[in-house]
Amino acid sequence: MEKGNKIYEGKAKKVYETDNPDLLIQEFKDDATAFDATKRGTIKGKGSINNYISKILFELLESKGVETHFVKQIDERNMLIKKVEIIPLEVTIRNIVAGGMSKLLGIDEGMVLNEPVLEYHYKNDALHDPLINEYHARALGLIKDEELNIIEKKSFEVNNILKSFFDHKNLYLVDFKLEFGRHKGKVLLADEISPDTCRLWDKDTRKKLDKDRFRRDLGDVEDAYEEVLRRIKG
Ligand code: 5GP
Repeated sequence: MEKGNKIYEGKAKKVYETDNPDLLIQEFKDDATAFDATKRGTIKGKGSINNYISKILFELLESKGVETHFVKQIDERNMLIKKVEIIPLEVTIRNIVAGGMSKLLGIDEGMVLNEPVLEYHYKNDALHDPLINEYHARALGLIKDEELNIIEKKSFEVNNILKSFFDHKNLYLVDFKLEFGRHKGKVLLADEISPDTCRLWDKDTRKKLDKDRFRRDLGDVEDAYEEVLRRIKG
């Protein structure tokens, strides 16, 4: 499948047209940004690792009945995907308190939640992806009620599948962010699932094996991404 025009370039990925109007190519970059791109850097090998990790996780989810935009891996950095219209909502699921929730509520990182917490954030960098609820989402016309119900159900399904998968790899799935898109009347899981978009902690040492190593200058960033890939391949 040949790359056509580039139709989007974001912080971590580029998206290209193909000769099939329903399909796109998603290319994973080594570039890393944090705090709304005020912190920038490169994580060597991240693009190919995140492509591979996303492929494994999308295939796992598809095998359990969760429909995604993933079609196939093309090569190291490129993945063939279904063309979707991205819904401008970021869905976050949290199993353990960290990051934004720790700050928002003044709770130390590491508290295991009694049940998973689902958050919606309005996808808007200029506003720093503000936390909103489902009333905002519907009232602002970001999403229809039926779609919201689908997204909520799918997000918890994804959490159950991924939490148990990572548990077997001796990793806690602390939290993660999902994006969904519309494709031919269906709502598909889109974007990527990788250490850029999930918090993953080693179960024995609680060592962070995700993008927080970059965000917080903790070192060993490349090693952490490689370690996640190594564990989930094995
Ligand atoms: P928090 O709201 O605590 O900053 O993030 C919660 C989870 O969602 C983390 O796993 C984080 O990596 C992911 N996440 C939230 N927003 C973004 C975003 O804009 N980009 C990326 N890559 N991940 C995000």
